[in-house]
Amino acid sequence: MYVLDTSAILSGKFFGNDVAIPPAVLKEIKKGGMAWRHLQYMKAIGLKIISPPSDVINLVKKFAFRTGDLPNLSDVDIHILALAFHLKATLLTDDYSIQNVAKEMNIEYKGIMENGIKEKFYWRYRCKSCGKYFDEYVEVCPICGGKIKRVRK
Ligand SMILES: [Zn+2]
Repeated sequence: MYVLDTSAILSGKFFGNDVAIPPAVLKEIKKGGMAWRHLQYMKAIGLKIISPPSDVINLVKKFAFRTGDLPNLSDVDIHILALAFHLKATLLTDDYSIQNVAKEMNIEYKGIMENGIKEKFYWRYRCKSCGKYFDEYVEVCPICGGKIKRVRK
């Protein structure tokens, strides 16, 4: 599972359907805009909106104070970290302060640019009848004339 920060949503990239954000992120997305529409789509395919527990929020603040990152973190950033910790998820963020606290708390994290590219889906096609795979789309199976379905590579 991934927890997304605001810029991950603003990136317009697709990170699969096992993703979550804290409600605080919604405040940073302009209603009706492109990122908001992208968010509606992500919700439709499985994005969950989960509040991090308050004891975990306090724990994040303690760690962030210790690393000296607390002044650089917004409340939203803290909620993002708390949710990733709570769900044992991988955090997607390019923010240096968030990454620094994540490291300290043993939260896994990845950069958005790097990850967005890696997570793109690649498809190939398979004949429903004979099971042969094709890299490019064909309307019917050239071997047996069977129907073709799209499968993830
Ligand atoms: Zn076939």
